[in-house]
Amino acid sequence: MWFFTEEQRALQQTCREFAQKELAPVAEQLDTQEKFNEKAFRKMGELGLLGVTADEKYGGAALGATEATIVMEEFAKACPATTLSYLAHSILCVNNISTNASEEQKAKYLPKLISGEHIGCMAMSEPEYGSDAVGMQTKAQKKADHYLINGNKMWITNAQYADVIYLYTRSGSDKKDLTTFIVEKETPGYSVSKEIHKMGMRASPTGELSFENVQLPIEQRVGEEGDSVYHMMKNLDLERITIAGISLGVAAACLDQCVRYASERKQFGKAIGNYQLIQKMIAEMSTETEMMRSFLYQVCAQYDRGERGPVSAAQVKLALPKMATKIALDAIQLHGGYGYSREFPLERLMRDNKLIEIGAGTNEVMIMIIAKNLLKEGLKNG
Ligand SMILES: Cc1cc2nc3c(=O)[nH]c(=O)nc-3n(C[C@H](O)[C@H](O)[C@H](O)COP(=O)(O)OP(=O)(O)OC[C@H]3O[C@@H](n4cnc5c(N)ncnc54)[C@H](O)[C@@H]3O)c2cc1C
Repeated sequence: MWFFTEEQRALQQTCREFAQKELAPVAEQLDTQEKFNEKAFRKMGELGLLGVTADEKYGGAALGATEATIVMEEFAKACPATTLSYLAHSILCVNNISTNASEEQKAKYLPKLISGEHIGCMAMSEPEYGSDAVGMQTKAQKKADHYLINGNKMWITNAQYADVIYLYTRSGSDKKDLTTFIVEKETPGYSVSKEIHKMGMRASPTGELSFENVQLPIEQRVGEEGDSVYHMMKNLDLERITIAGISLGVAAACLDQCVRYASERKQFGKAIGNYQLIQKMIAEMSTETEMMRSFLYQVCAQYDRGERGPVSAAQVKLALPKMATKIALDAIQLHGGYGYSREFPLERLMRDNKLIEIGAGTNEVMIMIIAKNLLKEGLKNG
């Protein structure tokens, strides 16, 4: 982007080189085997990327939404699934601890999460409560000197590898009586009860978590009782903006592959790029990718200036994943039978990107947020 600083361009180059060396060569194989790229993940720690937004005091890079999104875009060009796991760790777990936890909790958990020694996850969704997350039923009952936790969390990215779980629970009968905890994987009563197999994002482990009479000392509580909704609201915009970066990476990777293929593949004696129907696909794909890039980094820049708003975060989270799915489907079409085969990464990119239309709030939930905010004043008057 024209307005990236020298430092941001250097970060982009580092991430691009890392992704081409560590993620791209094994992306296909890990997708087939449904395996997590643990080796690359640990190396991200050495590069200082696992705490991209976290406090420098604990090893973080203290960067903003723009830099975090640059990482997402570059990684996702090579492997969206590894990027999703990276996002669950660095944004959903590390950034939440960095923003909401006490100094003692940060000192205890952040250094190992940021170095890559530990892996983190965030557990909000439940089998019966997804879009309606604040309806969650995993219970935290206050006892004399601890909390007793019971319930299940569903769809948790990095579940099988997570050493640290950033957990949301219900602590009272009011809808907003939600309380956050940090749970360590060795805690008795905690387990990963199910591995979930998926259409895409197969190199990103997903699991169901079970909490059976888990006793958590009061020191494991983040903030005060009932603070969870406040915690969620503080970080949701960043989560939505950065996850849209994965879709930008998918669109850019599809476009690159199409430009190459249209020049190489010959039919009727000519490279298919000579045909206007193919040219139209490439011209539209590139225009849409540039629109996605401009929109996303503009919203990042606004966020970094402190002009935070749920509407623009929801707008990028609605627009980019939908556009990237369309671009990935067009890219498959442009490649004909080869696009449908697993010889090319396009079908994987399409399957992976579809998740971004669902995770961190579905398209429909984004529409609700945008419409409710825009119509708020008008509807008040009947
Ligand atoms: C691969 C993967 C990784 C994930 N990682 C995590 C994670 O790390 N941590 C975590 O906590 N969660 C995670 N999730 C959960 C994800 O955030 C939820 O799947 C998502 O919020 C949707 O919830 P749901 O699946 O229960 O769908 P539901 O909420 O049951 O929705 C079903 C359908 O109904 C629509 N719908 C729901 N309510 C309304 C409404 N009011 N109006 C109109 N339409 C509506 C939805 O848009 C959707 O189309 C992950 C999910 C997946 C698939």
